[in-house]
Amino acid sequence: MKPTTARTSAFPIVPAQRMQTLPVQFFANLVKKANARTAEGYDVINLGQGNPDRPTPAHIVSALQEAAPNPLYHRYPPFSGFGFLKEAIVKRYKEDYGVTLDPEKEVAILFGGKTGLVEISQCFLNPGDVCLVPDPGYPDYWSGVELAGGRMVFMPLLESNAFLPDYSSISPLDAEKAKLMFINYPNNPTAATAPASFYEDTIRFAEKHGIVVASDFAYGAVGFDGKRPVSFLELPGAKEVGVEFYTLSKTYNMAGWRVGFALGNEEVIRVINLMQDHYYVSLFGGIQAAAAEALTGPQDGVRELVGVYESRRNALFGALDRIGWKATPSQGSFFAWLPVPKGYSSAELADKLLMEANVVVAPGIGFGTSGEGYVRMGLLSNEDRLVEAAERIGKLGLFR
Ligand code: PMP
Repeated sequence: MKPTTARTSAFPIVPAQRMQTLPVQFFANLVKKANARTAEGYDVINLGQGNPDRPTPAHIVSALQEAAPNPLYHRYPPFSGFGFLKEAIVKRYKEDYGVTLDPEKEVAILFGGKTGLVEISQCFLNPGDVCLVPDPGYPDYWSGVELAGGRMVFMPLLESNAFLPDYSSISPLDAEKAKLMFINYPNNPTAATAPASFYEDTIRFAEKHGIVVASDFAYGAVGFDGKRPVSFLELPGAKEVGVEFYTLSKTYNMAGWRVGFALGNEEVIRVINLMQDHYYVSLFGGIQAAAAEALTGPQDGVRELVGVYESRRNALFGALDRIGWKATPSQGSFFAWLPVPKGYSSAELADKLLMEANVVVAPGIGFGTSGEGYVRMGLLSNEDRLVEAAERIGKLGLFR
């Protein structure tokens, strides 16, 4: 990893070592190039990022408007958040997954899932401890491990193994030193989902080696072809070994609102809340009220949203098939994971698609070394634009 900061001036301001080991934001460069292309007047179709494109449902926005004038919310909220919000997430998990959680002891409210996913490494890794991380995977896992001074051991997610980690290939020494592991299904970036049996294997593996499991369920609501993604917490024994991270960002198009949760193991939740007591005083009460409305109000918007992503997936994969780009259709999340044609690296292909088709995709290498050989597209434009992106790419003649 390269240092992220470098400056010179007469007065020496020297960041702490840990700031210098933070991973570089790989995609910043791509965003810059895409913006430059747009500024030059090209009609760029940006499928490179993971930002939900639809608005938050109106009843949730109204709940914030109604809550905003309430003087109760103008004061400091309780440190770990309002009980009504913890009860709302518990109710949703009961209804959707049949999982019973204690709102006071088994729920931590987070400033978005991202915050919790970075915090958990600081909570459970001592310098030198191993953290098992999926490769390819969501880069924020790396940031937390770096900040904690931990050592990452990557678990390759290979197409030949349905993009699931193979626990039998982890060396006994690494398994012994591991204190924490991340898993993430529906998966970013591969768009794979995981069967219940995978979570059973995970629980057995974690129990055997004393590893805390962090199941990132950010795309938990988004499963296709009538298959509802399985929650880690549905499996017996899950709560003994770990927690699940859930977020309102994707399920309710609330990425800008910054509301997430950690759910499950009482001791893990206690430690996360302890760390947060030192960093924050929970979210603005009005946002907590609107978040509770999202979780307990009508859920038809969620079903409709999944339908929209599924139609987009069908439109995109249909168009990709017509241009000869063969790929495994996404099972969940709002991404498509596409193999790079021979003769290109993922970064070279992403550059070519930007410069010659004005289509932005994320090169797989940005998600880890096992991401090489793929690019990720987001299903975050309407069907016409997705089809147009594929048609523009088709004109380059890469798949004949
Ligand atoms: N996990 C994964 C895999 C994600 O893709 C994201 C968002 N891009 C998050 C967690 C975090 O989402 P948020 O911080 O908005 O809750």
